[in-house]
Amino acid sequence: MNYRGRFAPSPTGHLHFGSLVAAVGSWLCARHAGGQWLLRVEDMDPPREMPGSAESILAALPAFGLVADAPALFQSTRIGAYDAAFEQLKAAGQVFPCWCSRNDLAGGLHLDGHCLAKPDEGRTPAWRIRVPDIEIRFDDVLQGPQVANLRTTAGDFVIRRVEGYYAYQLACVVDDAFQGITDVVRGNDLLDSTPRQIYLQRCLGLSTPRYLHLPLALDGDGRKLSKSERAHPVDPTDPMPALRRALAFLDLPPVPGAQNPSALLAHALAHFDPARLPHCSERAAA
Ligand code: GLU
Repeated sequence: MNYRGRFAPSPTGHLHFGSLVAAVGSWLCARHAGGQWLLRVEDMDPPREMPGSAESILAALPAFGLVADAPALFQSTRIGAYDAAFEQLKAAGQVFPCWCSRNDLAGGLHLDGHCLAKPDEGRTPAWRIRVPDIEIRFDDVLQGPQVANLRTTAGDFVIRRVEGYYAYQLACVVDDAFQGITDVVRGNDLLDSTPRQIYLQRCLGLSTPRYLHLPLALDGDGRKLSKSERAHPVDPTDPMPALRRALAFLDLPPVPGAQNPSALLAHALAHFDPARLPHCSERAAA
């Protein structure tokens, strides 16, 4: 089976429980399918980055027994590829420069297919892609059939930001294709990005991978773990407790005797069946 999965962290902090779940879940799915597991550092948003966090995440993963099949791809090295995708969309007349402020949009979606503000040559515009009135459907391996109309859920969405950085949606789609990803396994907080990504794949003539969105880990107050103050980093110098918790979160049976992360993961893999992953959109982290 030609399966290629990936884990694509943003270097905005240390590896935390929510991202460990995504890493372990994507690793298990890839290894279960006899496929490859790749890494991508999504360092496309310098203002949100935490210095040293890419190195910290990449060093932590092997300590948890998660070893990739190739060196990590850094999005900061891929600007030329995003430029090319952008030019392709521009040549096809699918994007437009936009000077609209939040006020211009009155908090709503941008649906007009062209900028509502006056062009201002002195200011760099954002670039939006025009979205048609169509329903995007896909079958999420875990969350089931999904349907979204981009005009009611996203509107003409930004693919290049005012600051000149490419948006996550564009960079993700270009790189999933470049890395030959067949299966995207990630947290459920990205489920609503998927229709935009599928639309971009269609516009760029790229194939659509399968998607599996894992339940999102919530803290005791029901907040997304990565956004809460309790998103304590997991400790790569003492990997077993967090790894056991991540496997339990994914409903894998405990392994009392395992001495190290690799033994724990090997046992989990032997019992792993993607169909038995928890079929919920979110759950409390233990
Ligand atoms: N970089 C994103 C994050 O850390 C994940 C993107 C993805 O898996 O598509 O939340």
